[in-house]
Amino acid sequence: MAELGKVKARIEKLKAQINHHNYRYYVLDSPEISDAEYDELMRELKGLEEKYPQFLTSDSPTQRVGAKPVEAFGVVEHPLPLLSLGNAFSEEELIAWYNRISKLVGGQLSFVGEHKIDGLAVALTYVNRRLTIGATRGDGFHGEDITQNLRTIGSLPLSVPKEAPPRFEVRGEVFLPKVGFDKLNKERAAEGLPLFANPRNAAAGSARQLDPRVTARRPLDIYIYMLGYAEGRPTPSSHWETMEYLGSLGFKVNPNNRKLATIEQVSHFYDSWRERREDLPYEADGIVVKVDSLDLQGRLGDIGHEPRWAIAYKFPAIQGTTRLKKIEISVGRTGTLNPYAVLEPVAVGGVTIRKAALHNEDDIRRKDIREGDIVIIQRAGEVIPEIVAPVKGKRRGREKEFRLLEKIYDSKKKRPACPECGAEVVKAEGEVMYYCSNAACPAQIQERLEHFVSRGGMDIRGIGERLSAALFEQGLVRDVSDLYYLKEKDLLKLEGMAEKSVGNILGAIEKSKKTPLGRVIFALGIRHVGGEMAEILANEFSSLDELAQASAEKLIAITTVGPKIAESVTAFFKQKENRRIIKRLEKAGVRLKAEKIEAREIPLAGQEFVITGRLENFSRQQAEAQIRALGGSTKSDVTRQTDYLVVGAEPGSKLAKAKALGIKQISEEELLRLLEQKT
Ligand SMILES: [Zn+2]
Repeated sequence: MAELGKVKARIEKLKAQINHHNYRYYVLDSPEISDAEYDELMRELKGLEEKYPQFLTSDSPTQRVGAKPVEAFGVVEHPLPLLSLGNAFSEEELIAWYNRISKLVGGQLSFVGEHKIDGLAVALTYVNRRLTIGATRGDGFHGEDITQNLRTIGSLPLSVPKEAPPRFEVRGEVFLPKVGFDKLNKERAAEGLPLFANPRNAAAGSARQLDPRVTARRPLDIYIYMLGYAEGRPTPSSHWETMEYLGSLGFKVNPNNRKLATIEQVSHFYDSWRERREDLPYEADGIVVKVDSLDLQGRLGDIGHEPRWAIAYKFPAIQGTTRLKKIEISVGRTGTLNPYAVLEPVAVGGVTIRKAALHNEDDIRRKDIREGDIVIIQRAGEVIPEIVAPVKGKRRGREKEFRLLEKIYDSKKKRPACPECGAEVVKAEGEVMYYCSNAACPAQIQERLEHFVSRGGMDIRGIGERLSAALFEQGLVRDVSDLYYLKEKDLLKLEGMAEKSVGNILGAIEKSKKTPLGRVIFALGIRHVGGEMAEILANEFSSLDELAQASAEKLIAITTVGPKIAESVTAFFKQKENRRIIKRLEKAGVRLKAEKIEAREIPLAGQEFVITGRLENFSRQQAEAQIRALGGSTKSDVTRQTDYLVVGAEPGSKLAKAKALGIKQISEEELLRLLEQKT
């Protein structure tokens, strides 16, 4: 029993340490330990919890990684409704609001100004220090229970200090920072999936995934902006102090919030951010102005479904108008025929826009966009701008409705034809997209090739758009497997290729043979299988072969795989051409198995490494990853079990300890040599 007591104490200690480092990293943005040291703590905790499941609790930091998927979200009734805010679109409207409320309460009002972040509003209930329910706003009275997904957000505390009220609810905005949004959309574009129109949709879509493991991979963040209610302990009497109080409990509060003494200061706060909104790491569509005193908030109350004591003062949208010259069609990697708008160039928010996305024919029809129209375009983040709507009042009668099949009609062949290869065009039942039916379509092959070598795929550096086009045109690469049969002399024949860059490219191709299975699956470019789905499939199947053999039923049995994906996976492996390509990849030595460490691959088995000081050739994480890939283990502290201490520049106290214990020390060069020998 004493033994169990010790285990429990160790688990509690680890949880406290990890929570502390989470807070330093996600909330304060000021970590105290390296990622590797953090990983080490997590590994130990996970190991103990697996061995002693009786000590696993819902607030354990290991539970952030994403629990099992659910069939549907449960419904949560909000004890206190989540109201929506009234809007002001001009200074006059702001002043009118101010006049209305100051008349009602009489006397001086002071405010808090906050950014209105475009995300997903949630209510979080904590009972006895633990996060128990996280729910969406829903209709304001009932929301969806997305607790499991919200747990995956690193900046959200799963438990709070004992000074916190025994039961309380905070509200916050879940959002996707711009960087994460752009990354997600780039991945989706590479996957041929529809793009998220804006960070708001992306955040909402991510937070409402039925599979929390998908949510866990999305870089969501949250700012807490309100205390809903609190029981059992007194809380501050102003909004500003409440936010400071919530910050002290470990919640992430936006550092851009300001206390504003007068309505003039509110105007100033708005003006300064309207100009700088592009610099913010998140998308904000305005500011929220709140009366600071909670007593006055209570006296002002609500009107309809809106609180009287707060208002959203919106920024003007980043929009512009221009003429849509014509609609053209490009051929995607999976053969989709993608319409896009060619615009008369126009500057919107300091960027010149020439093209805009048009998702599909149905979408164009629904928005009634015609060639020759004056259109309103809108930019959000770094993604391709979108057409919001045509300005119908400016039509002159010469605008042309868009019909994809007419546009690509080939009068000689007397049928619609792929604009790139002339092949027949097909449309799958229930889908909105048309496809080029020719798997050997040059446009498709080139797109597939670019996708195959991309970062998220085989990550073969040095083969960009131009080189892949040249390889294809010269007939050197007809499908992706040909890459592994390229000869030095073939590449040297290409224009502008020097021996050194040829060597680099061949080296990168060679290295890519060890790409992890998930990325290989992604690189193959199976329709509807993006990076996340590819990872999920790689986790379920131990090899590409096993995946290829899987029936649609078996695939659908995986919770996150729907019938559409199952169908496209089985269809992909049924195609003779694809099977041939995979055979050739295998023959070339591309690893098509999950990374199970086999005996011959673990030359460093049983050897424990500790690193101290700064490394020149790689980051500490990279070095540790390479050691582990060869079966070695890495620790953050020197103990008697340590086999090697790798000594980088400016080593820390670990060196003295290693000397005292007589542990073998090696330099970075020696480590490199060791890794090379063993690889
Ligand atoms: Zn084609």
